[in-house]
Amino acid sequence: MRASQYFLPTLKEAPSEAEVPSHIFLVRGGFIRQLAAGLYEYLPLGLRVLKKIENIIRKHMDDAGALEVLLPILTPAELWQETGRWDVYGKELFRVEDRKGRLFALGPTHEETITDLVRKNIRSYKDLPKNFYQIQTKFRDEARPRYGLIRGREFIMKDAYSFDVSEEMAVKSYEIMKETYNKIFSELGLDYLMVEADTGAIGGKYSHEFVVKAANGEAHIVYCENCGYAANVEAAKYEFELDKLPPEEEKPLEKVHTPNVSSVEDVAKFLGVSPKKIVKTLIYILSDGTAVAVLIRGDRELNETKLINYFNVNDARLATSEELEKMGLVEGFVGPIGLDLPVYADVSVQDLHNFVVGANEKDYHYINVNIPRDFKPIEFVDFSTAREGDPCPNCKAPLKETTGLEVGHIFLLGTKYSDAMKAYFVDKDGKEKPIVMGCYGIGVSRLMAAAVEQNHDENGIIWPESIAPFKLQILALNMKDEKIKEVAENIYKKAKEKGIEVLFDDREMSAGAKFKDADLIGIPHRIVVGKGVKNNVVEYQHRAKKEKEEIPIDKVDEFLEKLR
Ligand code: ATP
Ligand code: MG
Repeated sequence: MRASQYFLPTLKEAPSEAEVPSHIFLVRGGFIRQLAAGLYEYLPLGLRVLKKIENIIRKHMDDAGALEVLLPILTPAELWQETGRWDVYGKELFRVEDRKGRLFALGPTHEETITDLVRKNIRSYKDLPKNFYQIQTKFRDEARPRYGLIRGREFIMKDAYSFDVSEEMAVKSYEIMKETYNKIFSELGLDYLMVEADTGAIGGKYSHEFVVKAANGEAHIVYCENCGYAANVEAAKYEFELDKLPPEEEKPLEKVHTPNVSSVEDVAKFLGVSPKKIVKTLIYILSDGTAVAVLIRGDRELNETKLINYFNVNDARLATSEELEKMGLVEGFVGPIGLDLPVYADVSVQDLHNFVVGANEKDYHYINVNIPRDFKPIEFVDFSTAREGDPCPNCKAPLKETTGLEVGHIFLLGTKYSDAMKAYFVDKDGKEKPIVMGCYGIGVSRLMAAAVEQNHDENGIIWPESIAPFKLQILALNMKDEKIKEVAENIYKKAKEKGIEVLFDDREMSAGAKFKDADLIGIPHRIVVGKGVKNNVVEYQHRAKKEKEEIPIDKVDEFLEKLR
């Protein structure tokens, strides 16, 4: 491809809304443009990268025996109503009405649609297993579309759905996808982690996320360098047994005056005890309207996802000061003793002795509190957010913490959708049974951004070889110089003949501007044709490296052969 005939609208400045490297460089490099919040146009260069990502995914999905389909983006409301998700999905679902008043959703995901296809066309165990996938545009009216391709309102996803005769077989399909995803992300050249994910209140037993390590990622992960364990902080089990204080003899309960001291830090300082001895009492209002008290040790953070899953509700929030007041409680001094609410405790409180709690009275705390002598929680539950230094649930080594971008998610659904939508098959024994499902997503367009988050320097992108828009870039530094032009044209011709994907910068502009663009665009291999032609040499450089290498012109052919 000749740059003079291509479309390379590179920019010196990033748009003001671009905050992260992938957004900045993809726009500046002429890969994408924003049409409106969360909506992006893929320019020729960007589309090449996207297609490469798609093709790697497609190849491995096909190899795994998955079958590609293409489902409508417009999906009838009735399907969503069958599973209840017309309401549950809330504002994220883009809803449209046709001229007759019939309602549709722009598909944010396609469980309902594919289940409808399967229930109408699969009857017998003989037709199973099946795994259908598609690579398609999805729509989600995200509350905060941001970071360019990382969180769009329209984005490209690979979604796959497996259908099996039993849970045992579904687990096999799940394991095949797990293996396939590892192949995909490895071939994409990304540094990623496969993490155990939260399965939600209704979720299945198996859920893994694939997370690309990135400073700007929204996923919070703990992982173990010793044994390879990795999990989302909301899914990681807290090994409280290994983090317990030594046992103590119970001392008599005492109410103490703690004027204006209410935060864990202040109370600990005031009483001269470790924050591990202060127990926070949090009052939560669950989305079903009930109020509960949850206790957690002062040095731990409660994880709301764990809380929501335990109570099997859609949402939960802390009670406001007014709500506390109405319940006769004093903010900052709430405690479990004599409290007229269901009390649950995090496992960090289990076996804790002589600890401190609020006394439900302004400026007072109880010290030397002991369970079950002074109060008794309904249950001890793991509500703790995992964090750096916690013991690994697998091998007990201290965990590390990192942030990342979720680029893939696999999930064993079970019969949630097949039950709701009556997707049944007739088994060998002649009985009708629900089909057991799994679903498998990859954020195709987010991957393009994730690759840049991981592979860039201050001047631009450094594409992993497997998804680079071109493999080789030829820079002719002065197209007015006959010799330079001739040598560059010749290398370009040879590269094309060898089937190397090559971008030939034959534009009439300054050498400096060409180098700047080349760094920004990030094509891995670069041949620079400049003054050296007088001495019969050209220069080679890899985008990721500083060193340059001289290649005699008569050796270029050999060199290109190696690049192939
Ligand atoms: P997130 O927690 O980031 O919102 P999700 O759990 O909603 O993700 P899934 O429903 O599992 O995501 O979708 C499958 C994949 O699609 C995700 O792993 C992610 O890579 C990608 N994805 C989800 N939402 C977006 C978005 N708004 N823009 C771009 N990619 C997205
Ligand atoms: Mg989401």
